[in-house]
Amino acid sequence: MPEIQYWEPDLERLPRTELEALQVKKLRKSVEDALRTPVYGERLRKHGVTSSDCIKSLDDLRRIPFTTKNDLRDGFPYGFVSVPKDDIIRLHASSGTTGIPTTIYFNKGDIARWRNNMARSIFATGCTKSDVFQNMITYGMFTGGLGFHYGAEEVGMLVIPSGAGNTAKQFRMMQDYGTTVLHATPSFLLHVESKMREEGVARDSLKLRKAFAGAEPYSEDTRRRIEGLLNIDVYNSYGLSEMNGPSVAFECQCKSGLHLWEDSYIGEIINPDTLEPAKEGELGELVLSCLCREATPLLRYRTRDLTAFYTEPCACGRTHRRLRRITGRSDDMLIINGVNLFPSQIEEVIMAMKEVGNNYLIVVEKDGALDRFTVKTEVGPDIFMDDARILNALKEKIRKTLQTSITVNPRVELHENGSLPVAEGKAKRVQDLRLKDI
Ligand code: AMP
Ligand code: ZN
Repeated sequence: MPEIQYWEPDLERLPRTELEALQVKKLRKSVEDALRTPVYGERLRKHGVTSSDCIKSLDDLRRIPFTTKNDLRDGFPYGFVSVPKDDIIRLHASSGTTGIPTTIYFNKGDIARWRNNMARSIFATGCTKSDVFQNMITYGMFTGGLGFHYGAEEVGMLVIPSGAGNTAKQFRMMQDYGTTVLHATPSFLLHVESKMREEGVARDSLKLRKAFAGAEPYSEDTRRRIEGLLNIDVYNSYGLSEMNGPSVAFECQCKSGLHLWEDSYIGEIINPDTLEPAKEGELGELVLSCLCREATPLLRYRTRDLTAFYTEPCACGRTHRRLRRITGRSDDMLIINGVNLFPSQIEEVIMAMKEVGNNYLIVVEKDGALDRFTVKTEVGPDIFMDDARILNALKEKIRKTLQTSITVNPRVELHENGSLPVAEGKAKRVQDLRLKDI
């Protein structure tokens, strides 16, 4: 185990009772802030939350109603803002595909707290001011760019704001500036590796040692694959724009789950159907209350992300509980001929096969009354597309493994290595064409 380093040793190792007392204190302040907002305040009062005196212990959290993306949209643009407009210094908006963007506003203190949480997260992975950090993620309204940018600067790293895309340029920068740490989506990291081979970039011309990967679900096999191919350590980074963005939960050097920074967020796991708390350690939907933002307070926000808390403490000594890798969203579940299925389950199966390449796509369409389900996947670089015997055997292997492990029977299509489209932002793994047929 490498030597553990803490950004804020006292806060990161705060005894649970003190940590929970701190949460109650901050929650009371957030309730006061929320009551000052026009739309959210009204909603809270309607549910009987009329002052911070309603919160005496963490159990009282349940008196606060859940909030959803739609509530935020109903309050658009300023209905959830608790400070004078002149005090707001920045906004970010979610990468939602359609409709009104869910917009979050920050005052100076909010940005400083977010930057500190980012620095704490980055430092927890063993990065130092000697590192050169290439931030290969979209800048702009998306929180991943500026969030990591400010956090890495706070640690003292040299930051290269390269943004996403253009692998040839990315390689040049890695070589010219001696990049040691990357941040990207896991799918882009896999793409970088494929391109490295294609363009003949020698691994030993690069000084890479670590990467942060997040913004989309990926499996433990995918992590190991990236680590093996690029010979680096990969740390899982979780966040959502409604909760500031990245640095909500982050892996430490133990790489065994993501520490939820509980002095800034209160996490609950609920059953998404009954909305009742899940049993300890049981999988459910993560609900988060933000304790570190004044300008846009947001309590009991339904993330739709499915996860669970680990019950045992982490070897690093931090007392903040760890979340399991997100397995999917309570709303991205596919129902194929009556079978419930998460894209991550398919990824887990195919990414564990070494003959399979780095990119894949799931296509669901109607075939008469039934659903037809195709897994398109690239083959690894050592497999040639003109060897029909090997290709057929591989197709059959993928189909059979999917059938036995997750009881679905998809068609399998194999594609040449590097030929499936790569998104610059979050990967689009599922094409559900069924709605078009209705
Ligand atoms: P956005 O608000 O656009 O940043 O999107 C946030 C969503 O991205 C989260 O609610 C998750 O569904 C997903 N996400 C972010 N980080 C991760 C991660 N490490 N693993 C799985 N999903 C993630
Ligand atoms: Zn830890």
